[in-house]
Amino acid sequence: MNDLKVVDARCKYCGIPLRLMVDAGYDHDPMKLLPLACCNNCGDTRIDWRQVNWRIARLVSLLIANPGNEKIKESAIKGFKVWVPEYLRLTGQFTRRTPTPWNDEIAHILADDPKKAGDTLKSLWPLKPKATQQMIEV
Ligand SMILES: [Zn+2]
Repeated sequence: MNDLKVVDARCKYCGIPLRLMVDAGYDHDPMKLLPLACCNNCGDTRIDWRQVNWRIARLVSLLIANPGNEKIKESAIKGFKVWVPEYLRLTGQFTRRTPTPWNDEIAHILADDPKKAGDTLKSLWPLKPKATQQMIEV
C-alpha cells in the first residue's frame, strides 16, 4: 500500500474546508483535483438532485411537446406533486437551509407555463450554499 499525501481543498459547492488524501502513487498533479473536490453532503445530494431534476425535465418536455393535451397536463401535475417536493427537500439539504415549502400551486404554475419551468424551479431555491463558521469548526 502506498503512502497518502494530504492536500487541503475546499468543497466546490459550499466552500467547507476539506482534506484530500491522495495516494502518493497517483501519477497526475494532485492540485488538478482541487477544483473537483466536494464534501459528502454536496456530492450525495447532487447525485439525487440530478435524478429528480431529470424526472421533472421529462414532464416539462412532455408538456412542451403536447400543448393543450389535458390528459398529459393532468398526468404532469400528478408527477410534479411527487417530484417537486423532493426537489425542494434536496435543495434545502444541498444549501443547508430551510427548503421552500411545497404548495400544490407550484405544480399548476409549472404545468401552465412549462417553457418557464427553469426559472420557476430556480426561484424555489433557498440561498446559495455557504460554509458557516460552525461547519468549519467541525
Ligand atoms: Zn459541500
